[in-house]
Amino acid sequence: MLNVVIFGPPGSGKGTQSEKIIEKYGLTHISTGEILRKEINAGTELGKLAKSLIDNGQLIPDETITEILNKKLDSLTNTKGVIFDGYPRTVDQAVTLKKILNDKGQDVNIMLNLEVEKDELIERLLERGRISGRSDDNLETIEKRIVVYEERTAPVIDFYKQEGTYQPIKGSGSIDEIFARIAAVMDNII
Ligand code: ADP
Repeated sequence: MLNVVIFGPPGSGKGTQSEKIIEKYGLTHISTGEILRKEINAGTELGKLAKSLIDNGQLIPDETITEILNKKLDSLTNTKGVIFDGYPRTVDQAVTLKKILNDKGQDVNIMLNLEVEKDELIERLLERGRISGRSDDNLETIEKRIVVYEERTAPVIDFYKQEGTYQPIKGSGSIDEIFARIAAVMDNII
């Protein structure tokens, strides 16, 4: 089992690169943001809670998100491995993920950190908002998300540095150029 964490600030290209990683390495995609958006569209209780937090640039509570993750992991059969996209987003979530995987005799094999300058992030997210209409891709919410990223999510980097699985990736350039950088490190560990 190959467990990959794709990490980076909002707009760093986690979802885009995940698709390419899945295509090449046959991993199963778990995107907590995508799961939450499905709940919002389905109008569930969880979706209502998620919408109010997401539109405000805030994180969903750790316990709630861990429950979602466990449910998703339990539903997997016959997978070569998982790419975790948008999880972990706090150090607590990183500790929890390690525990969940360790209980199955596994661990995170590599953490890919997509590094992108703040100005470029804002530009990309505004553009995505114009195209997709995602309700959290407006300037006010984007700025809040970046602050939350810096305060609560960036410390996850140190966790994986200590784990020895941290791998920074230059996240600017074309989609294919960035993917080539990812593939070069992935090919080294498989
Ligand atoms: P992006 O990385 O582009 O901001 P995502 O689709 O990964 O987008 O997440 C959208 C929103 O969903 C986040 O801003 C956050 O509110 C919520 N969310 C997603 N994953 C998590 C998580 N692991 N913990 C807490 N909140 C989450």
